[in-house]
Amino acid sequence: MPGRFERKMYKATCSECGKETEVPFQPQEGRPVFCRDCYMKKKGMQ
Ligand SMILES: [Zn+2]
Repeated sequence: MPGRFERKMYKATCSECGKETEVPFQPQEGRPVFCRDCYMKKKGMQ
């Protein structure tokens, strides 16, 4: 059925906790990737 929004997600490993996660952008080498939990934690830190 068309009309469903499906965003391309990329599998990545969280640099913080090592959990497998999916991100809406292509993970780049040398760039840390964070899962949602760690991302929120970092954002909420300040
Ligand atoms: Zn994490």
